[in-house]
Amino acid sequence: MQTYWGIDLGGTKIEGVILSSPSPDAVVIRQRIDTEAHLGYEHIVDRIVLLIDQLKAETGYTPDKIGFATPGTLDPRSQTMKNCNTTCLNGQPLKQALLDRLGVEVNLANDANCFALAEATLGAVPAVAPNFQTMFGVIMGTGVGGGVVFRGQDGQAMVVNGKQGIGGEWGHNILEENGYDCYCGKKGCNEQVISGPALQRFYLEQSGQKRTMKEIVERHRAGTDPIATLTMERLLRYFGRAISVITNILDPDVIVLGGGVGNIDELYTDGVEQLKNYIFNNRVVETPIIRPKLGDSAGVFGAAML
Ligand SMILES: [Zn+2]
Repeated sequence: MQTYWGIDLGGTKIEGVILSSPSPDAVVIRQRIDTEAHLGYEHIVDRIVLLIDQLKAETGYTPDKIGFATPGTLDPRSQTMKNCNTTCLNGQPLKQALLDRLGVEVNLANDANCFALAEATLGAVPAVAPNFQTMFGVIMGTGVGGGVVFRGQDGQAMVVNGKQGIGGEWGHNILEENGYDCYCGKKGCNEQVISGPALQRFYLEQSGQKRTMKEIVERHRAGTDPIATLTMERLLRYFGRAISVITNILDPDVIVLGGGVGNIDELYTDGVEQLKNYIFNNRVVETPIIRPKLGDSAGVFGAAML
């Protein structure tokens, strides 16, 4: 029996799934173990192998290939990891190590790309755009990222990893000239403007008070806090600008908004209105901008679909 194996390598947990068919309802087994990333790169590889051994032992299945959702990305030229927030992975030949240890084909993709692939194949996209040619998956949460998926000639949905492994890395486009310093070395990246922490920072600076994103949204809706409203207006305006870049270049058939900030209702109404101001289409937005369906499962399901 053909099975689909996915591993989502997170900073605190490693999660594994086996699907018996490409469907979110076809989970044979799903397990998670601690990453124990503080013990270093070699240990993380040991933990991945341990989890896969457990999946094999408990199901009796063996994989033909395994997909991995990773923080950061595999650099196609050096074949080492880069841009990982689990920093001990950076510079390491993770793919080769997994090939050596597991003895099966392995496919790696950035976790945002896996989110996009999961939503494109098993999540929200099939009901809205079953015949999509291209789609874009956005993550707006603690961090900001994205992934591009296209349908190949054989009908398979594929992620665009890109020549340098940075395909879909929308979070580090510059959105605010002379904005906040970003850890990537630039200023005013999308992540420094429309992520949850960036919006909370803006609110704090304007009001002197620390509030959660949920509180800021509630206070805006209640109409009692002008600074909360200012923060929301900032989100919506910059959201329109940030998405317009995707629309003007890729003009995807559908855009899925994931992450905690991506869940804010106003993005789907006022945010889309803002987008009209910035795209090259005579103030018409036909692109469906939709909510994701798979929640926290997107990473591991996307990995299985690689
Ligand atoms: Zn950046």
